[in-house]
Amino acid sequence: MIRSRRSQGRFIRDRLPPSQTYFDSIGLKLHGRGSWRDALCPFHDDAKPSLRVNVERGGWRCMACGVHGGDVLAFHMRRYGLGFIQAAKVLGAWEAR
Ligand SMILES: [Zn+2]
Repeated sequence: MIRSRRSQGRFIRDRLPPSQTYFDSIGLKLHGRGSWRDALCPFHDDAKPSLRVNVERGGWRCMACGVHGGDVLAFHMRRYGLGFIQAAKVLGAWEAR
């Protein structure tokens, strides 16, 4: 099997930052209590917090524009236009071989 040099390594999900820590680090303020928090959606011009973030499992969904994903990695990819490996590296969840 031939693999490209770029993709050598592996993704380690456990090394992704906790949801709350991640959103703090990019300056996204989470409001509310419990597992689901609200935030201003960075993917559309949001006037009230439409983005719902699950701080326990990392999932997120905007109730206004519909963007959604299952973890902070998916959020980071979408927010900054990065590929999977690139985003995993930025978040410290990629171990190079
Ligand atoms: Zn939105």
